Amino acid sequence: MGLHVPENIAQLKPYPPGKPIEELEREYGISGSIKLASNENPLGPSPLAIAAIQSHLQNLHRYPDGSGFYLRKRLSTHLQVPESAIVLGNGSNEIIDLLIRTFVRQGDEVLMAAPTFLVYHLMVRVAGGKPVEVPLKGFTHDLQAMTEAITSRTRLIFLNNPNNPTGTVLSRQDMDEFLDRVPQDVPIVVDEAYFEFANPEKTFSGLEYLDSTPPVIVLRTFSKAYGLAGLRIGYGVMIEEIADYLNRVRQPFNVNTLAQVAALAALDDEDFLQRTREVVREELRYLYQEMARLQLPTFPTETNFFLIQVDCDAREVYQALLKKGVIVRAMNSYGLANFIRISPGRHEENLRFVAAIEEVMNSLRKG
Ligand code: PMP
Repeated sequence: MGLHVPENIAQLKPYPPGKPIEELEREYGISGSIKLASNENPLGPSPLAIAAIQSHLQNLHRYPDGSGFYLRKRLSTHLQVPESAIVLGNGSNEIIDLLIRTFVRQGDEVLMAAPTFLVYHLMVRVAGGKPVEVPLKGFTHDLQAMTEAITSRTRLIFLNNPNNPTGTVLSRQDMDEFLDRVPQDVPIVVDEAYFEFANPEKTFSGLEYLDSTPPVIVLRTFSKAYGLAGLRIGYGVMIEEIADYLNRVRQPFNVNTLAQVAALAALDDEDFLQRTREVVREELRYLYQEMARLQLPTFPTETNFFLIQVDCDAREVYQALLKKGVIVRAMNSYGLANFIRISPGRHEENLRFVAAIEEVMNSLRKG
């Protein structure tokens, strides 16, 4: 139609979201399927969050609190950081987008690992920037190579800790050494979407580095450990100067009312968080043991998901599992064509997954 769409947008491939479960069931003529594909919480949402949502339904004719006053105040106590350091987002995805829109112009470079969370790459391209991807080494960020990839055009660096999709973490020593080598005017974004699942003895929190130079920006989310993925709420913590820029760029009412009240309630639901961690830990143990029995190589994780190596194209395994009503993630779009990624469900769901993958692998291996 001769539309004036810039090349950087026209050439993009959209983020590959799964189809709705209902639609897959209709297509495949199945029912009661289970979804282990998106690193979601096996327990559902926090019950305190559900109650808070119900008690706020009558206020939906009002705009949300555009400053996120109560939630930022609560987070400020919870994290021991000033309120002015916190920016709320429509999922931590939105903070990624805001950071990139704030810092990246046409031709600017943004450093990231490969494979890592796909959204960094996508948003940098949307902004006309150049994603500079540094291959992981041993499934972990290669900070030495990342340092060497910094140029005068580097505007941001993304570290995903723990990393999606590999589940690996960086140590405090890694981070200390990295900070010493990054130029002072290049902010480092530490995406901690899976922070709550990681063993604190193995890694650090970016919050420890808030006052460092170069500036460190921490991303967290309510989508995983707090079970609120459907509401879209996350946040970034950063020096006030950067928070101030993001507040100029973001939409005035970017985080909806129900998300704000649910997140507030979820922060008080210690019991839910603890049960989530326990269930995830226990179910991971079970799944690792079963994958070993099936002679499927796995990789250790500090998150609520892990990679399984299959000795064929992962899409074949994905399709065959789908026909049995089990939805997993084939990692082809991450450049890992022989891997699937799963996040543990409830125990009965995991039993079904194990039975299904056993059948699938037996028939693929025979074939
Ligand atoms: N970062 C990473 C590493 C993720 O895996 C995800 C979700 N898949 C996000 C950020 C975004 O989470 P949300 O927008 O739901 O807060």
